[in-house]
Amino acid sequence: SLSMREVTKDYDGVRVLDVPELDVRQGEFFSLLGPSGSGKTTGLRLVAGFEAPTAGRIIINGQDVARVRAEKRNIGLVFQNYALFPHMTVAENVAFPLHMRSLSARDIERRVAEVLEQVDLAPFRDRNAATLSGGQQQRVAIARAIVYEPDLLLMDEPLGALDRRLRARLQGELRGLHHRLGIPIVYVTHDQDEAMALSDRVAIMNGGHIVQLGAPKELYDSPASLFVSNFLGDNN
Ligand code: ATP
Repeated sequence: SLSMREVTKDYDGVRVLDVPELDVRQGEFFSLLGPSGSGKTTGLRLVAGFEAPTAGRIIINGQDVARVRAEKRNIGLVFQNYALFPHMTVAENVAFPLHMRSLSARDIERRVAEVLEQVDLAPFRDRNAATLSGGQQQRVAIARAIVYEPDLLLMDEPLGALDRRLRARLQGELRGLHHRLGIPIVYVTHDQDEAMALSDRVAIMNGGHIVQLGAPKELYDSPASLFVSNFLGDNN
């Protein structure tokens, strides 16, 4: 599980994130949804450990990691620009994070095969990453993010670069994967349809604040403010 307590982030004296209290439950698919500049990516970067919060606690599975280095947090990351190693095969890309842990070659091979199976890429294991389609590449990125069994998976607009049809298909796959993994996912998007379709709960952000948090249906049925109803109303 993930909790944030009294977390703030200032850049040059300007507060861009202010989260007094947030609890993402074990096994939950949780989205941060909001307009550009509302603080979604900043929130994710703090959880990932790319930056330290100005103040506050970030608690993952009971441990305050606010001052723990990113590599020590056991978090899987998937971003819009998947940044695979293009000259490596699918299997080599997925195995990459495992080489930094002391695993035998045999264990690495076994684990990679298992994960490629999970994302439906087993037949592609020896293909060069650069020769895959966008959707396939994104599945490799997901496989690489989950290969070392992270406690938490963070995704920032992971489907943003894909066309509509592919997005829809990968959304379905993500739900299935989330179900099988059983770990919480924190998902950043500005696409409300995507957030509503995927998430157990959604936090709507504006100006660095969570302005409403709830299940998709609650948000649609009882928006807490004009901002939320306008934001959600755009295609309702
Ligand atoms: P988008 O959907 O456009 O990615 P976002 O909701 O993810 O937006 P953030 O990227 O978290 O928003 O940015 C929140 C605010 O913090 C913005 O006003 C942004 O300009 C500011 N900001 C982010 N990173 C920095 C930085 N390194 N230095 C200064 N300001 C920053």
